[in-house]
Amino acid sequence: MQRYDVIVIGGGAAGLMCAFTAGRRGRRVALLEHNARVGLKIAISGGGRCNFTNLFAAPENYLSSRPRFCVSALARYRPEDFIALVEKHRIPFHEKKQGQLFCDFSSRQVIEMLLAECAIAGVEVHCGCRVVSVEKPGRFSLGTNRGLLECDSLVIATGGLSLPRLGASDFGYRIAEQFGISLTETRPGLVPFIFSDEEQALFAPLSGVSLPVVARVNRATFSEAMLITHRGLSGPAILQVSSYWRTGEEVTLDLLPQHAGAEWLLAQRETKITLEDLLAREWPARFAAIWSGRYARPIPLQQTRTAELEQLARLLHRWPIRPAATEGYAKAEVTVGGVDTGELSSKTMEARRVPGLYFIGEVVDVTGWLGGYNFQWAWASGHAAGEAA
Ligand SMILES: Cc1cc2nc3c(=O)[nH]c(=O)nc-3n(C[C@H](O)[C@H](O)[C@H](O)COP(=O)(O)OP(=O)(O)OC[C@H]3O[C@@H](n4cnc5c(N)ncnc54)[C@H](O)[C@@H]3O)c2cc1C
Repeated sequence: MQRYDVIVIGGGAAGLMCAFTAGRRGRRVALLEHNARVGLKIAISGGGRCNFTNLFAAPENYLSSRPRFCVSALARYRPEDFIALVEKHRIPFHEKKQGQLFCDFSSRQVIEMLLAECAIAGVEVHCGCRVVSVEKPGRFSLGTNRGLLECDSLVIATGGLSLPRLGASDFGYRIAEQFGISLTETRPGLVPFIFSDEEQALFAPLSGVSLPVVARVNRATFSEAMLITHRGLSGPAILQVSSYWRTGEEVTLDLLPQHAGAEWLLAQRETKITLEDLLAREWPARFAAIWSGRYARPIPLQQTRTAELEQLARLLHRWPIRPAATEGYAKAEVTVGGVDTGELSSKTMEARRVPGLYFIGEVVDVTGWLGGYNFQWAWASGHAAGEAA
């Protein structure tokens, strides 16, 4: 039987941060990871360069049933704090756009940095460790393939359901259920859409085409690039709104955000140009051809009635798409929903009804936008629990 003050289950972003934060306080900490290595998601994140934070991370950039829950942890561990750590380890980084910070070279450097901090703090990192049971007769008692382990504080940092091929599991949700802690409904987020059959037939040949749009779902609006794939839509604008989308809902796309309203189209009425040729000046020609072929008559704008042009302008600025589905957890960057934040202390992440049990990172019902916000939540919630556990 091995005894620890703190056991952290899950060696991802949140778990590693929590483990060394607790270790620095002199706590005897073990981190258990079922994969052969820690941080697999960090390794592939940001296209291999890890978008490790966002300079402007604020509570407004997160989805949650209780939107204010994340305020306290985010305020107590800020992007500057993580940047200071990255600078201490001399990892070169740059801002790509909109406050998104990436490593210049490789995400591996972030993993090595976190492991180095764990080593300094005396954290025992056990990879290939499977937890088969968790009991709480008094202290927590864990049955594992390494034998029985005991601890005072147990931190669940096993992430969400996205990318099962990298070891994602429902372990965290099962532990919550075991201890009577409620969950909110989970669904894939930051995930590409799959076209309906009609749109698939029309637009799939355009796979690879990208254009700037404003994408809307309900009241969420994102102005970014959209990418057509062989099965549907992706690109930052689409990934962002996907987190707000529920099955059956409509997504509207402003395909010409650079020309608001109908005036621009009406102003072209004096020319002999067709809509297709006009749009080909704004969009990739193939998209202009297929979109116009579907929605407009192949006649010069001169011969098109004002009402028809106004109708086309409405369609250009509010093109409705009803995705058949998303690509699901296999392609999702995150899981929306999770451990109900009403069950947790926003200061420490400790479960109100189970003293000593903590939930951090993506397993919690706090989901960030695309752009470094999810890692910032992992660091902040991991830090909050690491200061308390
Ligand atoms: C392709 C991709 C790219 C991404 N890029 C970015 C980005 O650039 N910036 C950003 O902010 N966010 C990004 N994200 C999201 C980000 O990776 C996650 O939000 C973040 O990793 C969550 O951290 P976590 O520690 O909560 O969970 P995870 O990082 O998922 O870590 C959970 C860990 O627990 C382990 N585990 C699971 N079950 C068990 C179990 N039963 N026993 C033991 N261990 C277990 C897992 O193997 C894993 O190591 C990306 C996600 C994906 C999928």
